[in-house]
Amino acid sequence: MDKSIAAALNLPPFEKGWVWLVGAGPGDPGLITALGLKAITEADYILYDALVDERLLALAKKGVGLIFAGKRAGVKSCRQSDISNLLVDLAKKTNRVLRLKGGDPFVFGRGGEEAGALAKAHVPFRIVPGITAGIGGLAYAGIPVTHRNTNHAVTFITGHGSDGKLPRLDWQAVGKGSETLVFYMARKYAGEIAEALIAAGRKADEPAAIIANAARAGQSVIVTDLKGLGAAAEKAPALSIIVVGENVRLRRELDWLGKTAAALNPA
Ligand code: SAH
Repeated sequence: MDKSIAAALNLPPFEKGWVWLVGAGPGDPGLITALGLKAITEADYILYDALVDERLLALAKKGVGLIFAGKRAGVKSCRQSDISNLLVDLAKKTNRVLRLKGGDPFVFGRGGEEAGALAKAHVPFRIVPGITAGIGGLAYAGIPVTHRNTNHAVTFITGHGSDGKLPRLDWQAVGKGSETLVFYMARKYAGEIAEALIAAGRKADEPAAIIANAARAGQSVIVTDLKGLGAAAEKAPALSIIVVGENVRLRRELDWLGKTAAALNPA
């Protein structure tokens, strides 16, 4: 990246033998951080996952080693231990290694496991947070993740446990815990989740939204309610965030992206 920007922001050097674990944000490449951009332009190796925008990878320096290390539907996934071992090996060979992940590396991204492997192997590392889909995706749908009059707390939940099933959570507690609930990887079990929340006392007509391909080409937002969530999710694209709560209603006024598109492409 531009040296004067790096100097003005006092960004740390990307030292040889280090691993930077960086979040690239939910989609729009403009949502990368300055530290993330610096890492992309200086890395010797970039291990990236499926959600990383190619325009970011195109900024890597000449001769960079680009390694796909993610999960893609229909393609055999890299084993987590293989990825961690590769990070360690490349760093020990005095490379600058960038592990680039969608969203934030520590939010349902297994960043903690990779950092743990580096720590165990005594490889120095830096964590560069990114904008997680459960916050940035909502912003791109015009849904504030908190709003003074509607919620005082928000819960981030995965709808997909490590065994591939709906996580065994205390759904009564989840339903009562906070006004706004944000679900990752929840499309498959959306109907069950909605039932569990209604059983926990949430209203069947409480608003919910499915934000698919948030901050990416083809973003779409389906607004529904808890009783309609399961059916709506069946029709939604795979990459989606589900949000439940009164904040969803704010989208009517705050859908800036839809309004921008309408202004740019008048009918
Ligand atoms: N570390 C990532 C989450 C990885 S888990 C983050 O912080 O955002 C992968 C899940 O994140 C997907 O199944 C989906 O639920 C959600 N997700 C990630 N990017 C998304 C996007 N652009 N639009 C909608 N959902 C997204």
